[in-house]
Amino acid sequence: MDIRFDDRVAIVTGAGTGLGRSHALGLAARGAKVVVNDLGVSTDGQGRSSDAAEAVAEEIRAAGGEAFAHGADVASEAEVADMVAKTMDTWGRIDILVNNAGILRDKTFGKMTMDDFRKVVDVHLIGSANCTHVCWPIFRAQGYGRVVLTSSGSGLYGNFGQANYGAAKAAMMGLMNVLHLEGAREDIRVNCLAPTAATRMTESLMPPEALELLAPETITPGLLYLVSEDAPSRVIMSAGAGCFAQTRVYETDGILLQGDEITPENVAAQMDQMQNAINQQELTDAFSQTKKYARKAAEARGLS
Ligand code: NAD
Repeated sequence: MDIRFDDRVAIVTGAGTGLGRSHALGLAARGAKVVVNDLGVSTDGQGRSSDAAEAVAEEIRAAGGEAFAHGADVASEAEVADMVAKTMDTWGRIDILVNNAGILRDKTFGKMTMDDFRKVVDVHLIGSANCTHVCWPIFRAQGYGRVVLTSSGSGLYGNFGQANYGAAKAAMMGLMNVLHLEGAREDIRVNCLAPTAATRMTESLMPPEALELLAPETITPGLLYLVSEDAPSRVIMSAGAGCFAQTRVYETDGILLQGDEITPENVAAQMDQMQNAINQQELTDAFSQTKKYARKAAEARGLS
């Protein structure tokens, strides 16, 4: 079955270049009306220009699609509110939000200023939360919403020199987990995309042969599925060069210590058993973890 977005309205942040541009073009090519958001900043978040967003919106219109550019800073509540109001005035609904805008301010943690830490968290985490928060009542009223939060291998696995970025990108997983639970009743589905692509963010990090394989267009089909009508929810899709994988969080079955046994020495002595992957589980929410521990402790005492 073809995945189409006819009559759907999408906002893609940071869509003037790189992955966001590819996502915006991909959505428009399959029928979506697209708000091409971009602040037009440098990779480290300096300056401001509407040129890139205007060019992508024009590219969509030239191909017969519908789009307008908007230069809201994703971290500004007032500017995002203006973008969302303009979208509602123009098309009357918002179905899809792709939180993609991002910057980098890499430095080892000891050399990083807290200003650089905050600025990166501000664009990625606060920016994504802000855009989603402004759209949330609209999704709820419609009984339909598709949200993607852009994470990164840096957040999921770590990357030297990216304490700010890694923390902000890991936070996408936490935001997704909660919004997935809170949005389910109104058919709001929330997923993470963790891409690895050749863009201006990464062009100096890899040789040209590798960059050629990692075009943003090899990732966008995964994003399109994540915002489609039949999208899953609470999936972390990792993608690059045509590879698509799911990143998951599991908890091991663990060990149980009781009474006087609960000592740091016993925890240390049983680390191997604690890490054993047999019977590991993907938990559905925080309370199911609490229940798991209470059940194990009660069973061991013959209380259940
Ligand atoms: P890019 O620099 O090409 O594009 C990012 C865009 O975001 C730029 O056009 C920029 O102007 C815009 N932007 C920055 N701050 C903004 C703000 N406050 N408000 C609105 N727009 C803003 O980078 P990219 O590689 O295409 O990255 C897109 C997303 O993917 C980012 O969230 C990035 O962290 C993430 N990501 C990229 C890679 C990769 O390999 N390229 C890997 C993991 C994650």
